[in-house]
Amino acid sequence: MPGSCWARMLKRNSRETMSRNIQGVRGMNDLFPDTTQVWQRVESVLRETGWLYGYREIRTPLLERTDLFSQSIGGGTDIVEKEMYTFVDQGRESLSLRPEATASTVRACIQHGLLHNRQQRFWYLGPMFRRERPQKGRYRQFHQFGIEAFGWSGPDIDAEIIQVGERILRTLGVDGITLEINTLGSESSRIRYRRALTGYLLKHQGNLDEDSRSRLERNPLRILDSKNPQTRRILAEAPVLRDYLEPDERLHFTRLCTMLEDSGVRYSINDRLVRGLDYYTSTVFEWTTSELGAQAAVCAGGRYDSLVESRGGRSTPGIGFAMGLERLIELVQLGGNEGNPAHADIYVIDTTGDSVPSTRRAEALRDIGIRVISHCGGGKLANQLKRADQSGAILALITGEREAELGVVQVKPMRQNIGQIELPADQIVNWCQDYLNDFRTTEARHDR
Ligand code: ATP
Ligand code: MG
Repeated sequence: MPGSCWARMLKRNSRETMSRNIQGVRGMNDLFPDTTQVWQRVESVLRETGWLYGYREIRTPLLERTDLFSQSIGGGTDIVEKEMYTFVDQGRESLSLRPEATASTVRACIQHGLLHNRQQRFWYLGPMFRRERPQKGRYRQFHQFGIEAFGWSGPDIDAEIIQVGERILRTLGVDGITLEINTLGSESSRIRYRRALTGYLLKHQGNLDEDSRSRLERNPLRILDSKNPQTRRILAEAPVLRDYLEPDERLHFTRLCTMLEDSGVRYSINDRLVRGLDYYTSTVFEWTTSELGAQAAVCAGGRYDSLVESRGGRSTPGIGFAMGLERLIELVQLGGNEGNPAHADIYVIDTTGDSVPSTRRAEALRDIGIRVISHCGGGKLANQLKRADQSGAILALITGEREAELGVVQVKPMRQNIGQIELPADQIVNWCQDYLNDFRTTEARHDR
């Protein structure tokens, strides 16, 4: 057979194998139990922290009309220009998977009148979608925890939102994070600043990187974000937004700084922090880390005082942040805080062929909150004990023919170097409860 024929056949075969063996979408992750366990722990800290500050959960659909995002986030932004998953459905409507959730939250609030004469504090948690180049810490489906507060215009809520973020990072024991804040002022101050910045950058146009040059017309503020060394050198001499603020805008920012200092929050002011979404006004902030390479942003947010009105609602100030869970969890794991990998307290082994009494005992243990895995499917005792060990269980309960006849159970401590104990079957539940309590108290003492 000529070579090209072979090549064609191989290609066809590999295509056929592929179609039988379908892979997941690039940049969209499967999570397995060892990892979901860490996720659940982090998620519960997020929920509880929201709850501590009086924020309540909002859930919006993963799909929205495309216009919602292009109009809220802004046509000149990377998200809208390049990153959205957009399709036309059978009803010929253009829909997009949400790339972030602030626009959806605002849409839901306006649509259901949630902001009429009311202030609102919300949190959300769920997947977002952006078609970016996948790499460590940057995925096409990723997760955000976010909070949003509507109806407050003073700096006290800005400080509160930042404190929520700080508390989450502290509770999770995440180190090496820095907080940067800045203010973008109002729309009108920004227009004046934009003019000054564009004037300055036009003089240096020839030395700007290509990306920045193309932003000069569309979105010059984003140039402040540039990582290009030469552009950064030019920016060092550029006009600073803070010099273009109205006195009340300046006061808002200095009051926020004082509040953060009073509550012991450490921050630095970064004049170049602008954020990539068009809707931000006034306060903006970002937590970054040096531990995750190029994907440094862990959580970011700011005020969006004109967004509600621009979407057709009554003028309502708003502020929020979004925290990336993949990056957060990576940091939690780096810090070795991922929690106990065990997935059982007790493993139940039964070699009698009639497991009804063992199952009843397992249920009684679960009734008092003890995690029990029953070894289903029989097999050799040695194999069952191996499984018990793999489960991370602290105790194994073993019932064989002899034990069943005598009404006893063998209890095997799996994590302590002590022998097996034989106990009357009706004492097992209480005994296990006491043993597990003692075991955990001792462990906690060791951890400290
Ligand atoms: P970056 O500068 O890393 O692209 P961003 O400014 O686009 O971040 P935001 O839109 O502010 O990010 O989203 C808030 C947080 O969501 C980020 O700080 C980050 O932790 C996380 N995040 C954003 N995009 C991704 C992604 N593609 N994969 C994983 N996490 C992401
Ligand atoms: Mg981005």
